[in-house]
Amino acid sequence: MAYQALYRVWRPQRFDDMIGQEVITRTLKNAITTNQISHAYLFAGPRGTGKTSAAKIFAKAINCHHQQDGEPCNECDTCKAITDGTLNDVIEIDAASNNGVEEIRDIRDKVKYAPTVADYKVYIIDEVHMLSTGAFNALLKTLEEPPTNVIFILATTEPHKIPATIISRTQRFDFKRIAANDSYQRMIYILDQKKVTYDEQAIKVIAKAAEGGMRDALSILDQALSFGDNEITLDNALLVTGSVTHELLATYVQQVLSGDTKAALATLQSVLEAGKDAERFTEDVISYARDLLLYQQAPQLVEEAEMGSVSDDFQALAKKTAAQTMYGMINELNAIQQQMRFTTHPDVYLEILTIKLAEIGHQSGATAVATAEASSVPQQAVGSNEVTELQHEIDQLRSAVKQLEQAPSTPKAAATSAKPRVTKSAPAKEVNLAKIYPILGSATREKLNQLQEVWPDLLNSLSITQRAVMKVSQPVAAANSGVIVAFDYSFLYQRATTDHELTDALENGLDRMIGTVLPVVFVPKDDWPVIRKNYLTAHKAELQANSDTPAEPEKPAENPVVTKAEELFGKDIVNVKAD
Ligand SMILES: [Zn+2]
Repeated sequence: MAYQALYRVWRPQRFDDMIGQEVITRTLKNAITTNQISHAYLFAGPRGTGKTSAAKIFAKAINCHHQQDGEPCNECDTCKAITDGTLNDVIEIDAASNNGVEEIRDIRDKVKYAPTVADYKVYIIDEVHMLSTGAFNALLKTLEEPPTNVIFILATTEPHKIPATIISRTQRFDFKRIAANDSYQRMIYILDQKKVTYDEQAIKVIAKAAEGGMRDALSILDQALSFGDNEITLDNALLVTGSVTHELLATYVQQVLSGDTKAALATLQSVLEAGKDAERFTEDVISYARDLLLYQQAPQLVEEAEMGSVSDDFQALAKKTAAQTMYGMINELNAIQQQMRFTTHPDVYLEILTIKLAEIGHQSGATAVATAEASSVPQQAVGSNEVTELQHEIDQLRSAVKQLEQAPSTPKAAATSAKPRVTKSAPAKEVNLAKIYPILGSATREKLNQLQEVWPDLLNSLSITQRAVMKVSQPVAAANSGVIVAFDYSFLYQRATTDHELTDALENGLDRMIGTVLPVVFVPKDDWPVIRKNYLTAHKAELQANSDTPAEPEKPAENPVVTKAEELFGKDIVNVKAD
């Protein structure tokens, strides 16, 4: 027999089997037992909360001759036929695929015929908000003059898209999101019936990831089952849901709150290396931070949502962290989340985020938390010298971030003007034209290609903190006398220019990879076009004199400056502006 999805096999067949909708099921059962049935219902609510299941159970219960306390018997021919979807009098329509006026006109034509087998004809229209205006009008006409023994059940995830004229003619039920604990209990029940072993923590992870939809919970459970050998492990659950473990999140948040940039970057690295999605991680951190805030005000709500497993670490953090700090973190997280949508390098944003969050944590002075718990984090043994060095590096990063916050816009034409930047902590580093111009003078496209090729490997050879700084960098010009590297963020440029160890590491790495020592010079990416243009303008005469032997003879009328630019940077990067 072909494998059947859990949510099909375990679809509730009685009101009492339904999860988390007690008020609705009680009301419907009561309507059936007291024979007070309305001719039109609206079942509204998020996906996977039991709307169509309830509609089918209702259709069975009103047609079953062995109905008891409002529940269908599920044994008689009528019940079975409705379960199988073979009873002609119970008609299921998916408005998402049948949204035409014709379909509804068809209903109008047929609705006047009495049910053939059952007592009631039941139309279940799923995703009813998808109907066209014409179809809604046709439906309205039918609802205005309801034929006897015909019942409409309209189901929708988006009730606000349904005309008020329709809604006013229905009895409305709002299905709730299913509480994580309810779907947890249901999954445990199903797994026990199936004799599948499971880690309780794994089921909690799935229940939370399903966000209130029972169908989603069972689909995720299905996937986790297909991974393991008839057992559900925490690892598989985390893998399927893409979630990060609570412990890892707690570690990360503790590290940033204590301002421990280095440790937080290392944790982030292991999260990403484990194949976690950057956006998912950001979401997890946001929800962790929100839970911390919520816990300060209403601990019982978090206890409920976490199904009673609020860890000691979490409680300690909630107690020690100022709400203001949490708000600051959440703002930062939201901002990064927005930016991440438009990038192909979300990892880079996460690293910048980590540096910024650690800065917030450092300012708030939540250091007391860290010292107690940081020891639980796996760390390489480091000598005290290295610790001092790291501390120094981190201080530099912090002042760089502070600088970014104080002067968020980079001066566009800083290349030649000696505009002093306003910071006391880290004196501004002007672009060193004396180093850049000679490189530009002998730069070749070939050399640049070579550098671009080895760049990713070079970055991989750096330490985690160095890599975090260099990840948004790229070589933009190269000659045998040196390479020019541009930075997306000016605060990282500032950071790089003041770090001689970083420069050494890059130059040593290049020596290993391409066999020559190339001096590395940094520029902010925003300033780069201006520097390049100024160079080309200043050396126009020289370039013209040297261009007697054009690189591309078939195009003799080329502007020598443009030709030179193309030679340096490739045609794809050169924008010829008429000025
Ligand atoms: Zn029955």
